[in-house]
Order: sequence, then structure tokens, then C-alpha cells
Amino acid sequence: LVRLSGVRKSFGDHEVLRGVDLQIDRGEVLCLIGPSGSGKSTLLRCINELETVDDGVVFLEDTPIGHIAEGGRLRRMRPRMVARQRREIGMVFQRFNLFPHMTVLENIVEAPVRVRREPIGEVRERAQGLLERVGLSTHADHYPAQLSGGQQQRVAIARALAMRPKLMLFDEPTSALDPELVGEVLDVMRGLARTGMTMVVVTHEMGFARDVADRIAFMDDGTIVEIGDPATVLGNPSHQRTRTFLTAIR
Ligand code: ATP
Ligand code: MG
Repeated sequence: LVRLSGVRKSFGDHEVLRGVDLQIDRGEVLCLIGPSGSGKSTLLRCINELETVDDGVVFLEDTPIGHIAEGGRLRRMRPRMVARQRREIGMVFQRFNLFPHMTVLENIVEAPVRVRREPIGEVRERAQGLLERVGLSTHADHYPAQLSGGQQQRVAIARALAMRPKLMLFDEPTSALDPELVGEVLDVMRGLARTGMTMVVVTHEMGFARDVADRIAFMDDGTIVEIGDPATVLGNPSHQRTRTFLTAIR
């Protein structure tokens, strides 16, 4: 579904991604782990074009993101086209960024109605279904400030799903939460994985990674050092850097 080929990204003279190759299959859950500053967030942001890559290409279903193929060469796309592509990809961040002046339901229907011009009745129905899925069907008329962090994050997931994305990106979705609220968000993500959604999840929740991920990628210093099934990467990693990281976080 997604393929990264030789992706490089620098900020000033700091090369944050140093040639990343990665393929993510449809229905796959990939967990991305690694030390702070290794480039995990930047990698997610390059996948959905929140950052433009300096070199290399990101493909979504064989379509190069942010580029148009023209006579065998790739030309940068206009921003409007990029925005259209981005709608295929849902993203949930560490901090819940719900619209504070809108109710839960309004938050969820906003993008499909305004951006995609879908009929409001249909979208509302879908939103109710999504709220049920994240366990918040009785909270449709609440405002974000009236919800716990875990509930807000579940709304953020429902809001992203309302656009019917082909791919969901999660950037440390539980790391800003009180410990007792982490489980409810991970449970929603686990359920989502079971529906066959393709997911890339940056996380420090190793239990989740072990149980839910099809593969785990360990990133360090702008490259994917090691990638494989959870049992191998977590239990018997082949690189010293992976071992050092795992020891440090345990
Ligand atoms: P963390 O676990 O702390 O979230 P990360 O692996 O997500 O770390 P990134 O956020 O991708 O790391 O950042 C990688 C490096 O790029 C860091 O050194 C960071 O300071 C730098 N960086 C990220 N975004 C920018 C930016 N917009 N401008 C300048 N430097 C940036
Ligand atoms: Mg990050």
C-alpha cells in the first residue's frame, strides 16, 4: 500500500532521514520504535506530506505522493492536489487536537462535510457508528474540554476514520495520557487493527507492539536499523543498537 524509496530529509545541515526504504502492505500494522530524535515523527510526516522530502519518493498505491509522473520524471504537485492525497491518510498525534469550540459530533463530521462535501445526514450517521466503535456513543454532544484525555484521543481517532482513510498514522497517541487512560486508547487501536486497517504506529508501548504489530521497525539516527516480526526484533534483535535501546526503555 505504501512504499518509501530512498527518502531523505534534512533540517538545515542536520540530516534527519538518511535514505529510508520501507514497504507497508495493505492491512499491515507496523510499529515504529527508536530513541528520541531518531526521525520517527519526521518519517510519518513525510508519508503524509506534512514535510516534503529532499530526495526519494513515497508511494501510496503506486501513486507518488506530492508528485506527478511526467515523461518518466517526477514533477512536484500543486498544493491543492497534495491536500487531496493527504485525505486518504488519517493521522493521530500525541496531543489531541480537537476543535475546542465544536462538539464531539461536530468535530467528526467537519472534514467529510466541508472538505469532501458529503451529505451531512450520511456523515452524521457514520459519525455515530464511529463513536460507538470508540465507546463514546453517549458523548456526541459533549465539548472536548468536558472529556478526559483518553476520551479526546478516541474522538481524534473517530474523526480521522470519518474520512475513510486508506492508511492511519499514529504518532505516540498515548504518551501524553495519564497511565490509567492509556489502555482504553490502545484497545480502540487494537480493534481498528482487527478490522484490517493499515496502520503505522510510533509508540513506546512495547506490550502493544508485541501483541498487535505485524512488524516492528527500529529506527536510529535517521535510518531503519532493523525491521522484522515482533518476537525477533524485541526478543532476539540482531543489532547491538536495538539491544541497547530495548534495555534502556525496560
Ligand atoms: P521523539 O521520540 O522525541 O518524538 P522522533 O524520533 O520523533 O523523536 P523527530 O521529531 O522526527 O524525532 O526529529 C528528528 C530530528 O529532527 C530531531 O533532532 C529534531 O530536532 C529535528 N527536527 C524535527 N522537526 C524539525 C523542524 N521542523 N525543524 C528543525 N529540526 C527539526
Ligand atoms: Mg516524535
